[in-house]
Amino acid sequence: MNVPDPGPIQLPPRLQGMLDSSRALSDRATEGVTTPERINGLLRKLESYASREIDRLEHEVGEAAAKGKGKAVACSMGCHWCCHQVVAATIPEVLLLAQWIRENFDPGQIDALKSRCAAYAQTLAEYPGVERVLHSATCPMLVDGLCTAHAARPLICRGYNSTDANVCKRFLFEGKHDSGPVPTLPELIQTAGVVRWGLHLMLRVRGMPGDLVELGLAIAIALENPDATERWLGGEDVFAGARSPAPPAPQFERLVRDEIRYRNAR
Ligand code: SF4
Repeated sequence: MNVPDPGPIQLPPRLQGMLDSSRALSDRATEGVTTPERINGLLRKLESYASREIDRLEHEVGEAAAKGKGKAVACSMGCHWCCHQVVAATIPEVLLLAQWIRENFDPGQIDALKSRCAAYAQTLAEYPGVERVLHSATCPMLVDGLCTAHAARPLICRGYNSTDANVCKRFLFEGKHDSGPVPTLPELIQTAGVVRWGLHLMLRVRGMPGDLVELGLAIAIALENPDATERWLGGEDVFAGARSPAPPAPQFERLVRDEIRYRNAR
């Protein structure tokens, strides 16, 4: 059966601009011989780009809420209900996080993190399919309700938000769905999402191994293998054991097809 071509994906201009910028930065950094320094430099730029825009939006909705228009973001330090589910990230995000951990954790803290990663892997081993995505497995980076890697957390953690922390607690931590889905401000999550898309897109177009990985499993691999960045850049599928079982969004696959088509036509 012939499925009608849905045509190019349509994003609002702000998100399209962010996707284009992320794609252009990622294109330059992955062209030719790519080094660990170039990949980490790219990630720092993308994380700061996404964070600036997310902070701006958060400020804007906070000001509007103070005037009685809409709801403000309810997330605050110590509120960790969203950190008990599987987090997907690109491999460069994991590699930069692992480098940040090596630079900022002492050996005892790294050993403790590895133990938390092992416990996390054991919990998730019971859920081999996509149902694990919303299983309440605590992120190994979380200690006493605080993210120990906040400065280097993945893009999606930066954009995730809620306007009601009590719903998060009931929905994500206690498994109670009686309050409905978590009330989020989609534009913040979409901002993190399109910046990640730009990077993920270029990795796919360049044929670099791996897709989205599960943070808690991938960080253990990166910490056990100090040469993981070089091996991954050399084409080795170092993170095969951490690949996310959730398929990429159809819109993302559409973007990849369009990009490849565009490049082949040049
Ligand atoms: S990396 Fe930090 S912010 Fe992200 S899920 Fe883990 S503990 Fe939470």
